[in-house]
Amino acid sequence: MCGVFGIFGGPGEVNAASLTYMGLYALQHRGQESAGMAVSDGDSLQLHKEMGLTANVFDEEIINRLPGSLAIGHVRYSTTGESSIINAQPLLAHCSKGAVALAHNGNLTNAQELRRELELGGSVFQTTTDSEVVINLIARFGKDDLQTATIRAAKRLRGSYALVILARDKLIGLRDPLGIRPLCLGRLADGAAGRTKAYILASESCALSNLGAEFLREVEPGEMVVIDQAGLRSIKFASRRRQAFCVFEYIYFARPDTFLAGKNVHEVRKAIGAVLAGEAPVEADVVIPAPDSGTSAAMGFAAATGIPFEIGLIKNRYVGRTFIQPAQEARELGVRIKLNPVESVIRGRRVVVIDDSIVRGTTSATMVRLLREAGAREVHLYIASPPYLHPCYYGIDTSQAGELVAATHTPAEIRDLVGADTLHYLSLQGLLRAVGTPGQKLCAACFNGKYPVPVQQEVNLPEASLA
Ligand code: AMP
Repeated sequence: MCGVFGIFGGPGEVNAASLTYMGLYALQHRGQESAGMAVSDGDSLQLHKEMGLTANVFDEEIINRLPGSLAIGHVRYSTTGESSIINAQPLLAHCSKGAVALAHNGNLTNAQELRRELELGGSVFQTTTDSEVVINLIARFGKDDLQTATIRAAKRLRGSYALVILARDKLIGLRDPLGIRPLCLGRLADGAAGRTKAYILASESCALSNLGAEFLREVEPGEMVVIDQAGLRSIKFASRRRQAFCVFEYIYFARPDTFLAGKNVHEVRKAIGAVLAGEAPVEADVVIPAPDSGTSAAMGFAAATGIPFEIGLIKNRYVGRTFIQPAQEARELGVRIKLNPVESVIRGRRVVVIDDSIVRGTTSATMVRLLREAGAREVHLYIASPPYLHPCYYGIDTSQAGELVAATHTPAEIRDLVGADTLHYLSLQGLLRAVGTPGQKLCAACFNGKYPVPVQQEVNLPEASLA
């Protein structure tokens, strides 16, 4: 998972670097490992990227050194492969089309194949990301303009990609033919209904509203938008009836204030909580969320059951997402530092705790233990998604099947492992009902194993790192 952002403003209309900074800030939840941006002043591109959070990577002085009204940005969440500065994005290359920068959210399932082919053809690579394959492919179509080369490159890509590409005088955004990862288009206007000052591309609509920009629409699956001085053009480079938007974006990844396919994520999560409550009724005194990812679902659960909603666990907001830390030991420690129970809510109570998902089981086990230590009489764990059984090859950090506790344990075994009195997962039908999008428009491979893009087993990306 990553967050991407792009802005095209007329000369002198906007400060692209400071708006990109704010956009990346709004998308920080999609990746906390590195942040970067490439900015064009109409003549040349400048790049700044480093490991760390947006606020640590950029300061006023750096932003001031990046003048221009066009930019792209990226926050990275690496999965397999190296988490180092060489893999931070945007990537910048100089080719027949001049300087081109690219930022990618997603994961190419044929990256290794393409890379081998390109290497045999003489290409050199400087990173271990699959995203570099894309920029190499674009450069390969040397005689074509950037737009044509990007379409020709896209036709070779398999897997998931939401891409933003920046040239001296152009911003391009595109989404894979199945629309697995999100990308939306917005507009910054001069006053309410005024002149367009800039077009914006962003992984999530929360980045638009944070900037006071208007949401125009989503970039369609298989669509490329090109924005330059001539305005905005849309090119459909692939058409498929099947779509496969990642359902896990609704469950966990996206921010609650974001809209995905016209649906507000917070409302979808509340609906999920209500469906979950209907599927497995419980007698309890209090419903609490796993902070913060379970909050919306817990509100929906509490409203549907009439059991009071409470805050029973406090999250230290200054600890990053536990998942981000590579080693298991660090991860466990991270979870403990991160969470503390509110004893007055918990002691002597029958507690329903709602989390969005169980991946390895670390978070659930820690939460249940903390609740028991705080005097909970009963702990009922409700999970606002079905058992996570299959690794994701499209950009979510679970590419190792062995790490998924539900792949190797029954729900009853997981209940015992995490120490809960009962454990209930949402059914897949229940999930689809709550999301309200027809199943054939979603990717739910992590739950049902139906991969919309074929994956070979060797796509375990030993050296290639996911964007
Ligand atoms: P675990 O502790 O391994 O069971 O992870 C589950 C917790 O991590 C849940 O509380 C989720 O909020 C969160 N989570 C789920 N999937 C992911 C993911 N792919 N990356 C980061 N965090 C995740």
